[in-house]
Amino acid sequence: MTPPPFDPTTIRRDFPLLTTPFHGKPMIYLDSAVSGLVPLPVLGRMDHYQRLEHTNVHRGVSTLSQEATDRFEEAREKVRSFLNAASTKEIIWTRGTTEAINLVAQTFGRANIHAGDEILLSAMEHHANIVPWQMLAEERGAKLRVIPMSDAGELILDDLEALLTPHTKLLGVVQVSNVLGTINPVKEIIARAHAKGVPVLVDGAQAVPHLTVDVQDLDADFYVFSGHKLSGPTGIGVLYGKKALLEKMPPWHGGGSMILSVSWEKTTYIGLPGKFEAGTPAITQAIGLGAALDYLQGLGLDRIAAYEHELLHYATEKLSAIEGLCIVGNAKAKASVLSFVLEGIHPHDVGSILDHDGIVVRAGHHCAQPVMQRLGIPATTRASFAYFNTREDVNALVAGILKVQEIFK
Ligand code: PMP
Repeated sequence: MTPPPFDPTTIRRDFPLLTTPFHGKPMIYLDSAVSGLVPLPVLGRMDHYQRLEHTNVHRGVSTLSQEATDRFEEAREKVRSFLNAASTKEIIWTRGTTEAINLVAQTFGRANIHAGDEILLSAMEHHANIVPWQMLAEERGAKLRVIPMSDAGELILDDLEALLTPHTKLLGVVQVSNVLGTINPVKEIIARAHAKGVPVLVDGAQAVPHLTVDVQDLDADFYVFSGHKLSGPTGIGVLYGKKALLEKMPPWHGGGSMILSVSWEKTTYIGLPGKFEAGTPAITQAIGLGAALDYLQGLGLDRIAAYEHELLHYATEKLSAIEGLCIVGNAKAKASVLSFVLEGIHPHDVGSILDHDGIVVRAGHHCAQPVMQRLGIPATTRASFAYFNTREDVNALVAGILKVQEIFK
């Protein structure tokens, strides 16, 4: 059966914020890269769970607890299927991308990275994939090395083999840059790193809302993302890790749920994935993330990607035509993130004036200060598009930008 046409007008009804007056106008939300809006069916699923199904999971024999555990584990299976991981044992719940990377740094990293070792990161990493490694490198006497990028915002991979030295213990790379929108060729990078025996962590925070991800096809060793960028709630995220690696890693947080037995003399731990999930998890949020995946799969991940691609193309054309506007990030392969600067106007002013027009964008360094330093700019204004945005939203952005320029003339 042919699916109905992709219709953002109908989809928009699932997002009450888009029809709630904001500075006296309907809101135009162009900030999904900072956090996605959560659609009504996802909110409804969490509400239902919390009202009628909730108690703690993996505890006790009560029917309520067993059913809550089933719902929680079903959500894990949805994530497994979404990433095409081989097993739910490879899906670890975290609070988000940041916590997932810290988990890898504090377990895999502390077990494997020592004085003189190197951690190779790309020039376009978010702070979340820099700072945990820097902290570890300082503690261990290890070194960070950086894969450079071009002015257009593409990684320069010509010298990758030279950067992958016998001391390199991990390569960390973002799949889609939150500032530039660049889609990095992570499959190729992983293959080249593996040829040198180096495992790879992929930061998928901005990739999962826009691309279909298959961790087995990528052959990623670790893949991390946050629920809130994916039409799910905050407070939940995922660490995917290859089973063989996760099994060898020591636990991180200690406490209830992750133990097999505890005595004053010794504690033993359970296997995956519980070994890394001490304490009461974010049950409602995990179930919400599962519902978000159902929702997105209902719309069709391929159709979302195609629609957003078309919208990005339209927006790029429209913004490029504005005199005095410079798009930051001109990679050949891009997801629907569009950063720009306006000649003579600070991005914070652009963001504030657009805000008064009901247009929500992000202005700043986007938690990627090294990208700003590399490009020699203090900040950008960033519009990011989701499947509920329309050409009318882009037209409103263009009108808003022209108004900003008029004010500063
Ligand atoms: N990496 C990238 C590329 C991001 O865009 C973000 C969020 N801006 C993060 C990591 C951190 O995600 P979180 O704050 O949800 O942990």
